Amino acid sequence: MKKVRVRFAPSPTGALHIGGVRTALYNYLFARQHQGDFILRIEDTDSARFVPGAEDYIVESLRWLGINVDEGIGVEGKGLHAPYRQSERRKIYVQYVDQLLDSGKAYFAFDTPEELDAKRNEIANFQYDASTRNVMKNSLTISAAEVKERLANGEKYVVRIKIEPEQEVVVHDLIRGDVKINSSRIDDKVLWKSADGLPTYHLANIVDDHLMEISHVIRGEEWLPSAPLHVLLYRYFGWEDSMPQFAHLPLLLKPDGNGKLSKRDGDRLGFPVFPLNWTDPKSGEQSSGYREAGYFPEAVINFLALLGWNPGGSEQEIFSIEELVNLFSLERVSKSGAKFDYEKAKWFNHKYLQQRPVDEIALEFNKILINQDIFEDSEKLIRITALMRERANFISDLWNDAKFFFVAPAEYDEKTVQKRWKTDSPQQLAELADFFAELADFTAVNAETLTMQWLADKGYGVGVVMNALRLALVGEGKGPHIFDITEILGKDETVTRIKTAIETLA
Ligand code: GLU
Repeated sequence: MKKVRVRFAPSPTGALHIGGVRTALYNYLFARQHQGDFILRIEDTDSARFVPGAEDYIVESLRWLGINVDEGIGVEGKGLHAPYRQSERRKIYVQYVDQLLDSGKAYFAFDTPEELDAKRNEIANFQYDASTRNVMKNSLTISAAEVKERLANGEKYVVRIKIEPEQEVVVHDLIRGDVKINSSRIDDKVLWKSADGLPTYHLANIVDDHLMEISHVIRGEEWLPSAPLHVLLYRYFGWEDSMPQFAHLPLLLKPDGNGKLSKRDGDRLGFPVFPLNWTDPKSGEQSSGYREAGYFPEAVINFLALLGWNPGGSEQEIFSIEELVNLFSLERVSKSGAKFDYEKAKWFNHKYLQQRPVDEIALEFNKILINQDIFEDSEKLIRITALMRERANFISDLWNDAKFFFVAPAEYDEKTVQKRWKTDSPQQLAELADFFAELADFTAVNAETLTMQWLADKGYGVGVVMNALRLALVGEGKGPHIFDITEILGKDETVTRIKTAIETLA
């Protein structure tokens, strides 16, 4: 088998959509599994859609996710097939457009936009092809001398592929099987525009995949309609024997399954559809990213890998990147679209938060605390992290859930007060504070055993007193086991908070 070489070939038209990230990931997994190369090529021949900053965004996204590029944009040193930015490969394409023109597989067309519009109005379902090209203004209908003159005068033109009608075109797709179409359905697509002196996507894409010795084209399903044209381009160039194999990936669908997942769905439903935060340089519009939302890159990788692929035969859902590399197969990529499930994304992050070494999480949590001017003893911080992370999906949740360990309540939740602060509470908690003050051993187990005994001796209801105590310590009704809280706060702080609550709420 020829060496596996795959490419991710985004156009720098804005932030990289999470569906594009999945395409990059599947390419990467496939390359790694086959000890192949993963190439990053930037397809920037459409100058009208070019967005500054988008290329850097793509590079940084892949880097953050650990989708390491072997060759191409963002990789140190010149690759064998440099340059990898299509706008810098203009000269290379000229030669191939000439090849098609010389062999009669392509022709010059001089129709103005107005003339094309007029034809569209005149002929229903107008398509520039074998049935119409003879009534258009192109090098097939005008004399060679006139063509020469128009070109010499610098007149605007395009080069179109000359599709031979009534040919069967078969795209062998590794996911979908054979997709057959009649060439008469394909129009004479534009391959080159003199206006920007650059090829269109179709030509540049085929020439580059050929020259870069790409073995497999793994890309989104939206490119499937273009694949027959691509097969014909390989044929017309005489490259069919070394044509890459195709695999078109299913779409990422909206959570309800109705249509393609879009940025608007993310805005509407409150989740990111981009890997990193992004500000559109033209409109200033901002979009949120997974990184800034607090996701671990490993969790995003794991989540995306399973959106459209499954390893089969097991219930396992947590996979390291190494496991994914071993298990991935294009045969197990589904044909139908994958519904995006944001709750599941959070679930993955939750799992990774539990798996990580606790001191690593504590270190990240500490950054949030330092930002709040809180400087905590590391042992205590690790204990709090270990205790609180079970409930957290993100490190930022730790701050929301565990803030009370560092900052005494400044106020008390109204509803909890109404429910949990009884007439007897001030009296009972005052006694409890005195009792606590006398305890020599304030560790959770000991404090709990002795307090239960004390409550029984006093004839106080466990729930009533403990709920009021929680309110005094936390400021609301939530939190972990109450004696874990008292132990971590320590005796003095526990007693102080009880007294403050009594003064404030009495
Ligand atoms: N430049 C195309 C895109 O933006 C690449 C399609 C392909 O992989 O062939 O998705």
